[in-house]
Amino acid sequence: MIQKLNLRYIVLFVTFCLSLYGCTESAAVSSSVDIPTDEIQKIEAAVPTKATVAPKRPRKLLVFSLCNSYVHSAIPYGKKAIEVMAKKTGAFEPVFSDDISMFEPDKLKQFDAVFLNNNSGELFLPKDMNSLPPRQQQLANMRNQRLQKSLQDFVASGKGLAGIHCAVWCFYSWPEYADIIGAVWVSHPWHEKVGIKLDDPDHPLCATFTGSGFDITDEIYVFTDPYSRDSVRVLLSLDMARTPDKEKFEGKRSDNDYAQCWVKRYGKGRVFYSAFGHDHDIFWNKAVLQHWLDGIQFALGDLPADTTPK
Ligand SMILES: [Zn+2]
Repeated sequence: MIQKLNLRYIVLFVTFCLSLYGCTESAAVSSSVDIPTDEIQKIEAAVPTKATVAPKRPRKLLVFSLCNSYVHSAIPYGKKAIEVMAKKTGAFEPVFSDDISMFEPDKLKQFDAVFLNNNSGELFLPKDMNSLPPRQQQLANMRNQRLQKSLQDFVASGKGLAGIHCAVWCFYSWPEYADIIGAVWVSHPWHEKVGIKLDDPDHPLCATFTGSGFDITDEIYVFTDPYSRDSVRVLLSLDMARTPDKEKFEGKRSDNDYAQCWVKRYGKGRVFYSAFGHDHDIFWNKAVLQHWLDGIQFALGDLPADTTPK
């Protein structure tokens, strides 16, 4: 009886801990899970039919979906949307791989940009790092540093990085990544319908929204330093007049500045980040898909867009 009670408390405790980290859906969902046919049809129907701009030359995009922590069930939806987008628009050739050796400099150089599809955790370290013998840990750390430098150099040299949703919850022990992507994740207090305002209605990456804010239902992220309007050009943020107030939550900002999408420069490189992409139906939201295509074409170097902070 006591053992049964203990087990129950352990299960409740683990469930509580998972809920703190937003893992209210099954953490065991694999990125290879099948998407129902009707949802594939919705994605296919919603993806833009042509490239926003003609590619200056054939473009190659590394679509990386590896997770070493929480696995979003939206990952296969992101892969499908990018696959269909490439096929319908011809804007780029996607290469889908979760092999970290793709980040070795001699392999990474074939790409124009990297798309981080809802990743999580320390992507370049093995999941079982702590149980490895010391020598293997040492080798893993050396590879981690080499691949991080490779990604950093790739972007800084003038290539592109685009990421959605959990792409900001990676590489927590690598401070430079926060500077590359533009923020650190704090919390996700909203899971209901929120209002989104266009901070930059005339920006080319906002063209799909035709000058008006909109409502969206998704898991909404809150960010902290190095996020700053002095370092990124914010395109979309929460319209607090049309968003339910959450009186108390971790990371609540006194400035009420809850940016959800931005572009920035890192060295000579281009970075596009969109916080949308938790709920599956985001992947058949026409405006968001067009916005992501524009962001990807910007990251690839084809769609010129101002990154000057405002
Ligand atoms: Zn999420």
